[in-house]
Amino acid sequence: MIVVLKDSATRENVQAVKDYIVGKGAQVHESEGIEKKIIGIIGNKRVIDKTALNAFPGVEHVIQILEPYKLASRKFHPRNTIIDVKGVQIGGLEPVHMAGPCSVETEEQIWEIAKEVSEKGGHILRGGVFKPRSSPYSFQGIGLEGAKWMYDAGKEYNLGIVSEVMEINDIEALYDYVDIFQVGARNMQHFKLLKALGKTDKPVLLKRGMSATMNEFLMSAEYILAEGNEKVILCERGIRTFVQHTRNTFDLNVIPALKNVSHLPILVDPSHATGKTDLVSPVTLAGLAAGADGFIVEIHPRPYEAYSDGDQSLNFQQYDALLKDLNILRDGILTLRKQKLEKVELECI
Ligand code: PEP
Ligand code: MN
Repeated sequence: MIVVLKDSATRENVQAVKDYIVGKGAQVHESEGIEKKIIGIIGNKRVIDKTALNAFPGVEHVIQILEPYKLASRKFHPRNTIIDVKGVQIGGLEPVHMAGPCSVETEEQIWEIAKEVSEKGGHILRGGVFKPRSSPYSFQGIGLEGAKWMYDAGKEYNLGIVSEVMEINDIEALYDYVDIFQVGARNMQHFKLLKALGKTDKPVLLKRGMSATMNEFLMSAEYILAEGNEKVILCERGIRTFVQHTRNTFDLNVIPALKNVSHLPILVDPSHATGKTDLVSPVTLAGLAAGADGFIVEIHPRPYEAYSDGDQSLNFQQYDALLKDLNILRDGILTLRKQKLEKVELECI
């Protein structure tokens, strides 16, 4: 439920509403930065009486939120969330550019890639050191040492670091080395992990589960938000369908659909969505044109030698070609993003 207050509402009026909500055992969530003051209510809807709330002095009206997610909802938080990572604004005007290997393999490999990402204007270096693999016999990740290599390379090249946490203990282990914790598709509903990430102060890149609906995706984000961490970045990485021509099916629809209902930034991962290097560029372009706030791609100097996901990793030449393609659309995408931001601002007044 959301309580919209009158412009004339006094501080005492607001406090009386908050006291009523808290007295009923529900939580108060205040949204800042919009013209109209609103108070969000989180908790069991049966305990709050909408008619009683409407009768409080200073209350303009009360809106029932039908969606199961609240904090992730644009109704609760009308403005876009912008997450700052080392000066890069994720969800801001400029689409964010994340690239790196599927797995961190050797110190030389990650330094070579970090240099390339930095020279190509990338913002964030990706790389898994704890890897969720379908087979127990596949490479399971280099471990913590790889995170230290990433940290050093990121420092040298001024790149933020994103890496996957598979279990709660990984959060503390990686804490000093990464700027963003990644939750993989297979762990999107690892609720204990999500709750633990909700208690950290670092952003979380939450990948969509391969069979998750949009509501389930947002409910997983809600687990993190509900624990107090407001820095959630969504990521569409393709879903399982009957098609056999690609590893997954990139759900382009979900980008504008998410933007309509949520304020959280959303990235596209065309590498896992397609599983094929020649499809990475067109799908990235489509995702950004549809309103995604950035992209995360897998690159490798020699994909044929990669320990994981070589089939979908761009070599440096292909990476360069992707960025050239993006450059062609750059002005158009920025114009669209500016228009959308202005529209959100207008709706907030
Ligand atoms: C990855 O980013 O390498 C990865 C394992 O991704 P996903 O969880 O989307 O499969
Ligand atoms: Mn991968």
